[in-house]
Amino acid sequence: MTDCIFCEIIEGKLPAKKIYEDDQAVAFWDANPASPIHILIVPRVHIPTLNDIPDGDTLLCHMGEVAKRIAQDLGVAESGYRFFINVNRGGGQVVFHLHAHLISGNDLGTFFIKAAIIGATLWRKLLSILGADGTRRKN
Ligand code: AMP
Ligand code: ZN
Repeated sequence: MTDCIFCEIIEGKLPAKKIYEDDQAVAFWDANPASPIHILIVPRVHIPTLNDIPDGDTLLCHMGEVAKRIAQDLGVAESGYRFFINVNRGGGQVVFHLHAHLISGNDLGTFFIKAAIIGATLWRKLLSILGADGTRRKN
């Protein structure tokens, strides 16, 4: 398929840090990782979205098996990982060659959100102790 970056990666025309490949799928590190471990599992055949997989096709099952194997190889099978597919623009899909994400490791986004919530809670507590104008309450 022309004008498809994942087809070009599969054909070796574009560089990628491949971590796994077989006759049905290729897996490589995401160029803009959302976490320390962010792998894309991509079928060799150009299928635009999950919606285009025919009923009864075993490709999705194979992609899951590849994810499981990579998670084991990277040592995160037990600690845990996310395995998901974005479908169409409303589902966050940007590259229209079917692919699954395998994500694991420190989730900095979640860390900063939690830190912000804890920080805001402590700040409100401090303000309630001192009083809104910053002066200490008598009682
Ligand atoms: P999605 O939003 O599900 O379509 O995900 C597309 C993913 O492909 C994003 O996480 C991008 O960072 C990733 N990506 C785009 N171009 C490349 C590339 N050339 N090599 C590796 N990953 C890429
Ligand atoms: Zn493609």
